[in-house]
Amino acid sequence: MNCEECGTKLGLGGRRGRRPRYCSAACRQRAYRRRKRESRIPQRLIDLARWTRAADKRPIQPDGQPASSTNAATWTTHDQVATGPGPGNGYGFMLGDGVVCIDLDHALTDSGPTDTAQAILAATTGAWAEVSTSGTGIHIFGAGFERAGHKFTAADGTGVEVYTRARFIRMTGKTYRPGGLVVLDLDAVMDAARR
Ligand SMILES: [Zn+2]
Repeated sequence: MNCEECGTKLGLGGRRGRRPRYCSAACRQRAYRRRKRESRIPQRLIDLARWTRAADKRPIQPDGQPASSTNAATWTTHDQVATGPGPGNGYGFMLGDGVVCIDLDHALTDSGPTDTAQAILAATTGAWAEVSTSGTGIHIFGAGFERAGHKFTAADGTGVEVYTRARFIRMTGKTYRPGGLVVLDLDAVMDAARR
């Protein structure tokens, strides 16, 4: 057994017979802080001025005017749209500048994620994901190069969309899987979806 935080080899368990997970109180504290941080929208996403308010799935500016996925002048900061009241009924993010999203529809059932969703989640280890407004979709965010978008329906009915630019994603900020903004292999994602 090794410390789950730093990898240091651990000795035998304590007297109570419970296996220790960390080598020290410091590592336990670091792991706790990291879990807390990773269960929120990644800071690298928050730091980009690519946010808008949303009226259902439509992006709008804080003054209620339409926002455009190709006009950066109509976007603003996360703080401007996600805290306090505003027009519309939510907020979202404009993909691009290296931020990509895998948008899964009909991905969550009463018995958990679909096979396709599970395969794609496994192909995007470490990437933060949120639950969509409907409660049955998953948005996996990551870093990646721009490429053509993909949209298709997998054999089990899961809707799979991959976008890397000029696309608005209405967000909830409700973490489905903790993680960060990690580089995604979109070819591996498509392979996983098509199995
Ligand atoms: Zn440690």
